[in-house]
Amino acid sequence: MGHLERVVVVGASAAGVTTAETLRREGYTGRLTLVGDEKALPYDRPPLSKQVLAGTWDPSKTLLRPDSAYVESDIELKLGSAATGLDLARRTVALSSGEEIGYDALVIATGTSPRSLPFGHDLAGVHVLRTIDDALALRSDLLRSSSVVVVGAGFLGTEAAASARRLGLDVTVVDPLPLPLVRQFGDRVATAIAELHEEEGVRLLAGVGVAALHGSVAVSGVELTDGTVLPADVVLVAIGAAPATAWLDGSGVPVDDGVVCDATCRAAEGVYAAGDVARWFNPHFGGLMRVEHRMNATEQGMAVARTLLGARTPFAPVPYFWTDQFDAKIQAYGVFPAGAEMVVAHGGIAERKFVAHYLVQGRVVGVLGWNMARQLRQDRQLILPA
Ligand SMILES: Cc1cc2nc3c(=O)[nH]c(=O)nc-3n(C[C@H](O)[C@H](O)[C@H](O)COP(=O)(O)OP(=O)(O)OC[C@H]3O[C@@H](n4cnc5c(N)ncnc54)[C@H](O)[C@@H]3O)c2cc1C
Repeated sequence: MGHLERVVVVGASAAGVTTAETLRREGYTGRLTLVGDEKALPYDRPPLSKQVLAGTWDPSKTLLRPDSAYVESDIELKLGSAATGLDLARRTVALSSGEEIGYDALVIATGTSPRSLPFGHDLAGVHVLRTIDDALALRSDLLRSSSVVVVGAGFLGTEAAASARRLGLDVTVVDPLPLPLVRQFGDRVATAIAELHEEEGVRLLAGVGVAALHGSVAVSGVELTDGTVLPADVVLVAIGAAPATAWLDGSGVPVDDGVVCDATCRAAEGVYAAGDVARWFNPHFGGLMRVEHRMNATEQGMAVARTLLGARTPFAPVPYFWTDQFDAKIQAYGVFPAGAEMVVAHGGIAERKFVAHYLVQGRVVGVLGWNMARQLRQDRQLILPA
């Protein structure tokens, strides 16, 4: 990068806040603006499906930084303000307020937005879960209901199902795939997750889709593709998320399931991306990668800030993620492609304490630990560069 006088970061969450903070910490003294469409001060999302939904944390505990931190670091916060367009040639970002702001470097950190079902999303009682407002609205509905149907057995759906069980609700999870989290972890770990949920009283309806939501003003039931209708006054739709890139349409920034970047997270002249929205070339795995996990948002935000300050190091992390469900703390490093061979290397699945290795052509590409954090950290070193 040439001389920087104005950096604009769009998306005021984990990746955006880390980028801004790292820039300041590592010596950037120019103007720094953080634009975010949510009104709330930047907060952390992982607790939303866990502690916030279960009610064990006050929402204020999720704040990434206190208000004063932005003032102290001279980060200009523009909250409640969406970026609506980008002009690469003029180096300006258009905001929903009608304002246009110029930049020398722009960091795109707009994350992902939840997908919704093609029907029923305007019925009362039907929720998605991405923001703090979503979490509080869902919790308030759960507290006045006795049952909930969760559509989707991915991370979000299974975590929310566990939290709802803890609140004492009857919980049904529906997913067209045969097992929860099967695409992420493969059959054996997915079977163990299914057993854990069933033991805790979650009803899993796997291998069946949702055909319609019933109700006029409020939802009253979920119709499945096999014709069954499940009565429901709360429905959580947790069917994945899509990169929030609509505001970049027509701008010339390459978008293909995320903002496509090189190994330094650069997408176009003066434009970089970090966090859930970024699809960058990860030299460690020799391919394009987009990671929807919390640790990556921090690491990539730091990496982009350093690139802006002149570093030329490629961003080549081994991705890390975790999920907490009932008493299971599952953590993983690396990648888990379909068809990878899975070997239990330590402990046992039946004991719910193990580390598994995932191999492709004899090479370890991912390691997963279930209530076995220390061993897992050691085994992470087995994931060698491609
Ligand atoms: C409920 C929940 C639980 C999770 N649990 C875990 C977990 O246990 N472990 C784990 O590893 N990961 C977890 N994650 C994933 C993790 O939270 C994300 O990877 C992380 O939040 C990504 O950070 P980000 O800053 O890239 O994007 P986001 O957090 O999505 O932030 C993007 C921000 O940009 C804003 N924005 C979007 N478009 C615009 C625009 N045009 N103009 C201005 N602002 C805009 C958005 O409103 C949002 O505030 C969870 C996510 C959720 C939702």
